[in-house]
Amino acid sequence: MKNFSQKFIFSWLGVLGLGAILVCLAVFTNAQGGPLEVRFFDVGQGKAVLIKTPEGHDILIDGGPDNSVLQKIGEALPFYDRKIDLLILTHPDSDHLNGLIEVVERYEVAAVIESGISEKSPENEKWELLLKEKNISVNFAKAGQKIKTGKELSFEIFYPNISLAGKTPSNTNSASIVVRLDYGENSFLFTGDAEEAAENYLLGTGANVDVDILDVSHHGSKNSSSLDFLRSVSPEAAIIQVGADNRYGHPHEETLEKLESSGAKIFRTDLCGDINISADSERYKIESECD
Ligand SMILES: [Zn+2]
Repeated sequence: MKNFSQKFIFSWLGVLGLGAILVCLAVFTNAQGGPLEVRFFDVGQGKAVLIKTPEGHDILIDGGPDNSVLQKIGEALPFYDRKIDLLILTHPDSDHLNGLIEVVERYEVAAVIESGISEKSPENEKWELLLKEKNISVNFAKAGQKIKTGKELSFEIFYPNISLAGKTPSNTNSASIVVRLDYGENSFLFTGDAEEAAENYLLGTGANVDVDILDVSHHGSKNSSSLDFLRSVSPEAAIIQVGADNRYGHPHEETLEKLESSGAKIFRTDLCGDINISADSERYKIESECD
């Protein structure tokens, strides 16, 4: 149990722009006042990011390919903290989904945001069953949804542009959730395994992708991180979650060159282990084994 009260308020605040609906998913109360911590875990070839908000809420984006995420969460949270306030599954590929199954088994997960696409795998079937069994609130991501978790901290879903709930796309990467996080003057963009088509869509809509810290899409694959996109993002730091000597050849040399030409400082989990960012509302600091 946490020593603060919280309530989830699902409220439809109105229709904006091109029919996009702004959803205020969660409103939390009682600020705690610590730093924002964003931990890009080294989970091998996969992605898992834990966000600890200044108000004391825990948000997990993806769970990596196996249960190694449990040890990482255990090290990051105090032993008595058994609650994940929000879990975002960018898409259900095994290197993002598999670790989440034991997270849902062992932690109290208050809410899930996912793209809602179906993938035929034993893990995905187990995942869907678990969410039902545990009666977890599931929300399907769509561009325009906003989540405010504190006075100065908010998320905005940028992609997918339409609800993909129940769809079975042949390329699951193309259904990845892209979400922006703002905390005071600091900003992050989390991209799952989104590909160039999603990037071009975002550039076309004029979404504000200009952030300080970019979670590089698809482990640095050459199918993502177009030069135009990186120019618009203009990240100061680019984080690549990738396994050492992986069979996909991630990150691709061309992607690394493009990231460098965009002016970003590159941090890789295969070289640096966990990459931990802490921030107040003005400045951020990056720490890893490479420092
Ligand atoms: Zn992936």
